[in-house]
Amino acid sequence: MRNTDLGPAAHPTTSALSPYLRRRLLTEHEVVAAVRSALGERAAEKFTSEVFWRTYFKGHLETHPAGWSDTLALIAAGRERLDAEPGLRRAHAAAVEGRTGIDCFDAWARELVETNWLHNHARMWFASIWIFTLRLPWALGAAFFLRHLVDGDPASNTLSWRWVAGLHTRGKHYVARAENIRRYTAGRFDPAGLDENPHSLDEERPPRETALLAADAVPSGDVALLLHLDDLSPETLPIGGRVRCVAGLLAHADDAAEPVRAADRAAMRDGLERAASRFDCPIVPFADGWADGLPVVTPWAPIGPTASALQPGVLRIRRLWDEVAWPQSSRGFFRLRSAIPAVLDACAVPEHA
Ligand SMILES: Cc1cc2nc3c(=O)[nH]c(=O)nc-3n(C[C@H](O)[C@H](O)[C@H](O)COP(=O)(O)OP(=O)(O)OC[C@H]3O[C@@H](n4cnc5c(N)ncnc54)[C@H](O)[C@@H]3O)c2cc1C
Repeated sequence: MRNTDLGPAAHPTTSALSPYLRRRLLTEHEVVAAVRSALGERAAEKFTSEVFWRTYFKGHLETHPAGWSDTLALIAAGRERLDAEPGLRRAHAAAVEGRTGIDCFDAWARELVETNWLHNHARMWFASIWIFTLRLPWALGAAFFLRHLVDGDPASNTLSWRWVAGLHTRGKHYVARAENIRRYTAGRFDPAGLDENPHSLDEERPPRETALLAADAVPSGDVALLLHLDDLSPETLPIGGRVRCVAGLLAHADDAAEPVRAADRAAMRDGLERAASRFDCPIVPFADGWADGLPVVTPWAPIGPTASALQPGVLRIRRLWDEVAWPQSSRGFFRLRSAIPAVLDACAVPEHA
């Protein structure tokens, strides 16, 4: 049933774990280990590989940082076009307000804004219709998702939109077909007017691959811990020394919708409280001098708002999961998929004390 989108009123056909995984309230490692232990390696294979898509996209963006900076530039350029071109502005407004006349698309636009969630298949169809039928700039669609999705994630979102457009795997785009939508939405929709024979998008300068930045070594003495929205599992961080205090850096996407910000705040509160209890230390407000001269340690923040907000001098440590998987993520997914057993082996022994 994983490909079937039964709509917001039905029980989800997938795990709906991504808001937790995105903030690492649960780690990929923890979820994969639990599912493998409950179902066995073979039965858990498909789900495990889904979780590795998240890991892959993060590793891929880390090794292609222009994939993010170029997207931000395209969003800014797209917004300028909306100001300057009334026809485009009208078409964009109709899309985000669910007034295009394409039944499924309009329902998903409203569902996204009202529930902050869309099923994976609906995300694929929606992005494809946005790009190939409505012919709207893809980066503005990615921005619309990032503003409203409760699991909004720079890597998974940007690279999925690029994948649908045929920019990630060049020339291979995803085409939304009316028959496929009818079949996998349990008869809820009967879309008309889709362009089912489009060409992929192209770009002059695809993001260049760069070397993965090295993480910092963990100091062995006392530290101050800085948590952020990309990793809220302090209990399993590989911290060598004693944590004397903890603070939280709350860096949302620029125009994140209020329900997304509220979920971020709740997640941060939860992470900070667990850190205080695990390390028996106070939570201090993130303000000048909060670390009281101690070295500040933070989990690695992948490309996105938190990484941009982090000050130099903070020691950024990386989980073994990312350290092993990300170097395998610089090309296509299948290289990482073949390396899944190696990642799981490397992470078999817990890193944390
Ligand atoms: C255009 C588009 C935009 C997307 N934007 C985001 C986003 O901003 N944030 C986000 O977290 N995901 C994004 N995704 C990926 C995917 O749709 C969601 O992670 C998934 O729908 C979450 O539902 P689930 O937790 O029930 O997934 P399950 O099917 O239960 O999968 C378990 C976990 O595997 C990972 N996963 C599954 N499918 C994917 C996938 N295609 N790509 C990456 N990871 C995956 C997620 O961590 C998910 O929680 C996007 C996909 C598309 C096509």
